[in-house]
Amino acid sequence: MIETSRNTGSPVGIVGGSVAGLFTALLLGRAGRAVKVFEGGEDFDNRTRTLIVTSRMKDVLGGVGKAARVNEIRRFELFTDGRVARFSLRQPDIVIERTRLIRELASAAEASGCEVQLGRRFVSMEERGDGLNIQLERHGGSQSEEVRVGTVVGADGAASRVARAAGWPAQNTVPLVQSIVRLPDDMPSDVTRVWFIPDDTPYFYWLIPHSATRGVVGLIGEDGPATRHVLERFLERKHLEPLEYQAARIPLYSKWIPIRRKLNGGDVYLVGDAAGHVKVSTVGGIVTGLRGAHGVAEAILNGGPGPRLRALRRELDVHLLIRKVIHNFTQAHYSHLVDLLNTRARKELETNTRDEPGRMLWRLCLQQPRFLLFGLRAFLTSGAFPGRRIAA
Ligand SMILES: Cc1cc2nc3c(=O)[nH]c(=O)nc-3n(C[C@H](O)[C@H](O)[C@H](O)COP(=O)(O)OP(=O)(O)OC[C@H]3O[C@@H](n4cnc5c(N)ncnc54)[C@H](O)[C@@H]3O)c2cc1C
Repeated sequence: MIETSRNTGSPVGIVGGSVAGLFTALLLGRAGRAVKVFEGGEDFDNRTRTLIVTSRMKDVLGGVGKAARVNEIRRFELFTDGRVARFSLRQPDIVIERTRLIRELASAAEASGCEVQLGRRFVSMEERGDGLNIQLERHGGSQSEEVRVGTVVGADGAASRVARAAGWPAQNTVPLVQSIVRLPDDMPSDVTRVWFIPDDTPYFYWLIPHSATRGVVGLIGEDGPATRHVLERFLERKHLEPLEYQAARIPLYSKWIPIRRKLNGGDVYLVGDAAGHVKVSTVGGIVTGLRGAHGVAEAILNGGPGPRLRALRRELDVHLLIRKVIHNFTQAHYSHLVDLLNTRARKELETNTRDEPGRMLWRLCLQQPRFLLFGLRAFLTSGAFPGRRIAA
């Protein structure tokens, strides 16, 4: 529950005008706090990025985000070594265009009274008395500016400069590469296909339609250039022509890190990718980033972290457990997993979303107890899952 408190004191400075930062701003603005958002780019990120999220996004965002929805996914097909498992979703997944979501959130944040400033790149911060002075580079470094705030929120992505300045360690990250393609003739636009090919990636490939004729094929890898080559080979094998690539490194959640640091001059918080709030089972960060933003806004308004952040932590930890179990799966493991999906287990996949992993796991094991034994055995024999530490 967010309390409404008109506060005329020092503003909250949010570094990063993307999904997590703008949602934090919106919530704080609605609660009456003075908020300044500093986005390093001269404009909001214009690079197209097709994303799939669960229906949970609607609950978290309320009425915002409608213009960003470009398609709905009603069925999944999981492929492994000649086998396929199909299931429908009771609540369709939503395919969104990230740039549209960012613009919608920016308008809503401004309408709630927040000041959003573009072309302001965070460089460093200093503790001064009862405030924090943040140094910003303006317009590509041609000018600089110092702004005084009471609280800083680092929403500046996986390589967060705010996090480094406040003393958080660098995060492990993995490359995510996807390419826009024309959909194959046999592919309905409300189906997402997933391929498990552990020789290529310990994660998976996906094909997500974002319109009746086009979609994105992608994968998560462990090394940037190699990941792009692996994707190119896969596209060739599937006779799909890459029309445009989208890529970036995303954080690999390996344990919960405290999202607040108390400095002498004020508090510093992290949200979204900067906080590592990404589901490491599927490496999706939109819904978890938004939920983290909600938790951080509550913490700022109520003087400390509350139940929302604790629930997020529990869920991210369940995703971590799933990743540890499956990260070193062989093709035979995936085939066995698909074979174990009986009708009742599939029903659970249809009913529960990926954003309720604890409930989903529990219900799956209830419907197919052999999952438990299989999972335990895999967990006990699993190795570590690596990621590269990125420079500040
Ligand atoms: C190709 C690709 C596909 C993906 N697909 C999915 C998906 O299907 N589903 C899903 O849930 N997730 C997906 N993700 C992950 C998801 O996009 C991210 O988790 C999410 O966008 C993170 O949002 P964010 O606001 O935390 O950070 P970002 O979107 O990284 O934004 C950080 C912002 O901070 C700004 N910034 C950086 N440094 C500074 C600075 N020094 N000063 C001021 N501003 C700064 C940047 O310009 C940027 O605007 C995908 C990621 C990629 C790369």
